This record gives sequence, structure tokens and C-alpha cells, in this order.
Amino acid sequence: MEMASYKAVIVGSGFSGICQAIKLKAAGINDFIILEKAGATGGTWRENTYPGAECDIPSALYSYSFEHNPNWQHKWSHQDQIIDYINHCVNKYDIEPHIRYHQEMTGAEYNSESGSWLIRTKTDSYEADSLIIAVGQLHHPSVPVIPGAGSFNGLTWHSAQWRHDVDLTGKRVGVIGNAASAVQFIPEIAPVVSDLTIFQRSANWMIPKVEPETAEWRRRLSAKMPLLHKINRMRLWLTGGLMFFLMGNNQLAKKVGTWYSLRHMKKQVKDPVLRKKLTPDYPIGAKRILFSDNYYPSLTLPHVHLETEQPESFTNEGIRTKDGKTHHFDVVIYATGFITNPFLKNMEIKGLSGERIADAWSEGAEAYLGMTVTGFPNFYIMYGPNTNLGHNSILIMSEAQANYITQCLVMKDQNNWKSIMVKKEVQDSFNKEIQSRLKNTAWNQLTQSWYRVEGKITNNWPGRTMEYNRRTKKVKWSDYWIS
Ligand code: NAP
Repeated sequence: MEMASYKAVIVGSGFSGICQAIKLKAAGINDFIILEKAGATGGTWRENTYPGAECDIPSALYSYSFEHNPNWQHKWSHQDQIIDYINHCVNKYDIEPHIRYHQEMTGAEYNSESGSWLIRTKTDSYEADSLIIAVGQLHHPSVPVIPGAGSFNGLTWHSAQWRHDVDLTGKRVGVIGNAASAVQFIPEIAPVVSDLTIFQRSANWMIPKVEPETAEWRRRLSAKMPLLHKINRMRLWLTGGLMFFLMGNNQLAKKVGTWYSLRHMKKQVKDPVLRKKLTPDYPIGAKRILFSDNYYPSLTLPHVHLETEQPESFTNEGIRTKDGKTHHFDVVIYATGFITNPFLKNMEIKGLSGERIADAWSEGAEAYLGMTVTGFPNFYIMYGPNTNLGHNSILIMSEAQANYITQCLVMKDQNNWKSIMVKKEVQDSFNKEIQSRLKNTAWNQLTQSWYRVEGKITNNWPGRTMEYNRRTKKVKWSDYWIS
């Protein structure tokens, strides 16, 4: 059977992949498919269904700039509303016919003679002139290896693989981890379980969320007057830009942020011993700042315990901590995040002369503008190396990337170019600049976090989204080898 061949293959149908598909279609490129590993769209919002899952960026900003939704019920939308929004976009822009479900990409090889990519999934092969990887950074659950896990008589699961078939009412539950996912589901399960212990390795900086429901009249007004929505979006975007000061080295901003966060804790936690445990020992901004109004109050419930002794091993009854104490559980939930490094884990991608991307990135992933990699022609990454944000909506980055990649594909098409590949010196000088700027950020004040591989911060963008938008607005063709 002849292999199906396309102008482009997009991998992943989360926010980035769908955005890219919409932009390609708008530019007149219809000859593409999206390979999706699961049976539905939505990416991280399909995978993370834990109780209380919601976005910690306001939805008016965590949505496409070109697709206003006046119907958000909350300022910070819940997972199901976000999935509805993605499905709405898929239907409205007629993306569904392009999606191939249950097609997990395992590898891809560039053919320098034909200038095309051979893409392999677990069951099929495809050919494409351009390959666009839009698989995100947060989808391989990270589960720490704790000795004796197999001997535990209770149940365990990861927050991204929630067991909705298990009723936690009256159960003794342990949670390992206390970051973005944990602070959303702990307030949901705390009232129903009989006993809850949270194992905290490090405390987090947290600020209030204030979650107003969006009143019916505001939704109607927003539908009738899209200009109001645009003004609100602009306001949220600029506020996000201000938060960037916390990620840098602005001492005044850090003082204000620290004061605000501690005041939030003081208002909600009266016990000074608990407050001490909850106070981070690193500067604000060095890890993702969390937003929550209901996490601290749930810790003050009499049957909820914050444990700072670390799990040493599982027993058949629960978890033994390093101080020798055994905690008895029916269920243990890992809220331990995702394997973010190496990038593009489980994908064997070979570029010019068969070079493996894993080898090109042996000292940590890097790309030009987070999107293109020297040695890998006609190859693009969305939400790639050094494009993660700690202060604003990642969808602003996705849209900028989709526009940039679309320009590349349109020019390739119009001019019948065989290949486009970023020049090595351009990529090198870009990354030198990025790494040097990252040294002056709060992220560099921690030696270990999911943002870095050993000494190198591979995940975060060192500036504001405004700068990224400016630098990606128009492709500078002199940055590329074109044939
Ligand atoms: P995470 O931010 O990586 O946090 C993992 C937690 O588990 C941390 O508390 C970490 O402690 C702890 N941990 C990891 N390994 C451990 C070990 N071996 N022993 C003990 N504790 C361990 O994961 P997440 O909360 O699932 O969030 C992942 C990312 O998803 C976030 O950073 C965020 O970008 C995103 N997210 C976004 C939203 C949203 O609303 N947009 C919601 C949820 C998640 P340490 O802090 O000490 O490392």
C-alpha cells in the first residue's frame, strides 16, 4: 500500500496543535494531518481530570486571541469548560477531518534526497514535507521510585491518571507533592476523606486567586461587545507582564510579592508552626508561583496533616518516613509532576545524516526561538525548549509559534523550496544570549527544578511574551539555509 503523504504533519491535538492547524488552513494549506496519540483532542486538558482541575491563568487570556468565548463561567476555567472550548474550535474551524486518532508518533527520519520526513507511529507510517511537533512539555507522569511500592496493600495513582472509579469518602489518603496540581485537588478531597497527609518536600509561594463566577450579565455584555473582552484581555496580559518582575532580580518587586504571599498565608493560617512549615526557603519566582484560595484553609482541618519528613519506603500498610514513623493509608496519590527532560522523550527523531535529536541535545535541549533546530530541516517544535512561562498565558507563545511556522510553510510552498534549516551560528548565538540572560533570573537560584538539566535552564523563556511576539513576528530568512 502506498504511504500517505502530506505537506505537513502536526503531532498532538492540544492547544498548540489545534492552533497550528487553524493557522495553516487560514493560510490556504489544507494538505496536512494531525497525529494524536489518544482518542480525543485536548492534550494536557484531556489528561488531567483530577477533582478541582482548573486553569491558573484567567480564561480570557488562556484562549486564542482570534476566538473569543463570552461563555466562560469562571474567571479561572474548570477543565471541562476548557475541553468544551477546544472542541468548539475543532468544530468551528473544521479541524476534525485532519485528525488521526490513536496514532502515537514513535520516530521520524529526514530524507535529504526528497527533503521529506518519514514519520512512524506505533501502527502506521506517513510522509510529510514538514514536521511540526506540538506535544507539550507536561505529559509523561513522573513517579518517584520509593522502595517497597509493590508491597503496599492500598491503591496508588498519579494525579494525571486519576481513578474516578474509586470513592475516597472515609479513606485514609496520602499525597506526595504539593505543587500546582496538588493544591487544586487537595481542597476537593480533604472534606470527604477520613485522614489526609500531604508529604511536602519544599514549600511553595502562593498568592490568592479570588475566583468570581462570571455573572450572567457580564457574559451577555461580553458577547454583545467584544471590544470589552479585548480590553479585559489586554489588562490581564499587562498584569501578567508585571508578574515577570518576580522572575527576574527586581528586589522591590520581590519584596512586594513576598509580602503579599505571606500576608495571604497569615490571613488563612493562624497556627505559627504550620505557617513556618509553609514558608519557602528560596526566593519568590524561583519555582512556579501558585494561585489558590482554598489550599491553606484545607490544611487547617483537624484530620489534615502537613508532613515534611520525606517518604523513605512503602510498607504494606502505608508509608514509612525517614524518622521511622509509619503512616497508614488506603490510597496514596502521586502529585509529583511530569518528566520534562529530556524533551521529546520516547521519540527517535533523526535529521540530516541520521543525527539523533537526543544526541544533538545531549547537553540539554535547545532550538532557535524554541522552534527550529540546526541539522533538522523542515522541522518545527511548538512549546519547545526555552519557551515555557512563569508569568503569562502559554497560548500567547503558541499563537506566535503557529504564525511563524505558517510563514515558513507558506514560503516553502510558494517558492517550491526543498528545505529550510536554521543556521548553526544563528542557533548558537541565540542560545548563548538566552542562557546568559537566564543566569540573572530567579530560576537560576535553585539548583534543582523541572526547568533545568544540570546547570542549564532548558524550559523557560527569559523575557516577556511581548519580546517573544516581536522576535517571532516575521521570519528572518537570512537566519536559515534554504534550498
Ligand atoms: P510539579 O509542579 O512538578 O510539582 C511536583 C511536586 O511533587 C512538587 O511539590 C515536588 O516537590 C514534588 N515531588 C516531585 N518528586 C518528588 C519526590 N521524589 N519526593 C517528594 N516530592 C516530590 O507538578 P504539578 O503540580 O503536577 O504541576 C506540573 C506543572 O503543570 C506545573 O508547573 C504547571 O506548569 C502545570 N499545571 C498547570 C496548571 C494550570 O492551572 N495551568 C495546573 C496544574 C499544573 P519539590 O517542589 O520539592 O520539587
